[in-house]
Amino acid sequence: MKLDGKVAVITGAAQGIGLGCAEEFAAHGARLVLSDILADKCAQEAARIGREFGVDAISVPCDVSKEDEVAARFAEAQKRFGTVDVAVANAGIIKAGSILDLSPEDFDAVLGVNLRGVFLTGQAAARLMVDQGVKGSIINMASTNAVVAIPNQLAYVTSKGGVVQLTKAMALALAEHGIRVNGIGPGSIMTDVLKTVMNDDEARKMILSRTPLRRIGDPREIGQVAVFLASDYASYLTGQTIYPDGGRLSLNYVVPVDD
Ligand code: NAD
Repeated sequence: MKLDGKVAVITGAAQGIGLGCAEEFAAHGARLVLSDILADKCAQEAARIGREFGVDAISVPCDVSKEDEVAARFAEAQKRFGTVDVAVANAGIIKAGSILDLSPEDFDAVLGVNLRGVFLTGQAAARLMVDQGVKGSIINMASTNAVVAIPNQLAYVTSKGGVVQLTKAMALALAEHGIRVNGIGPGSIMTDVLKTVMNDDEARKMILSRTPLRRIGDPREIGQVAVFLASDYASYLTGQTIYPDGGRLSLNYVVPVDD
């Protein structure tokens, strides 16, 4: 799979899955615009990736829930590289709460980043691609929680369900321009949040008992799916969400877990 010279904008790229996507894109020769609210960390990672993989990688700080900042990020990408071929709308947050106790402020905050942020990034990317006649690829980060739900993660699961529908509506509207839009719905992936959870024995057993491949995924394994979706190998794929979940969504039971 080749992404040689393709320009990819990735949100939430300072760490975790976004960083895993950035590393895989760099390994396949893409030029990168890494974006995050963590400006310093994002700049450090962009510099490291540029050095280690020998690709052009810049960092543009941005809050994905703010329209003017998203527009400025795409303007900077265009100024630096001339165009954008791929956008990965990955930034996401979690705030716990069920229907009985979640505050409206926390609901808005999660939807603001996870759904509005994906919409704003997709809209800015699509407008630029249409203007320039670029037959690009837009990739939205969903979750297995788009399909199954966790009661005390009401806002998160709602936002991810929205991402899957947003992906379909975007794909249909952009098909005539040759722009493909797909989603990725990861299962449990070893990022900072999950590292803490995995230190708790009960939580670890619960997660693994719902994971047929019996291990947690690596951020680079999500990056590999993103590279596929961005590449010509996915040229007839649009409107879909792919679930790299270790088998979770196929499982209607639990699997044995070692102590
Ligand atoms: P993470 O917290 O490690 O990384 C998220 C990144 O997004 C951080 O760098 C953070 O600074 C950035 N971010 C947060 N709010 C932002 C904003 N308003 N604007 C710009 N950047 C912002 O999380 P992660 O586990 O790498 O998750 C990345 C994506 O993958 C999220 O959309 C998440 O919902 C999804 N996901 C993660 C898992 C998992 O198991 N880790 C599973 C399914 C889906």
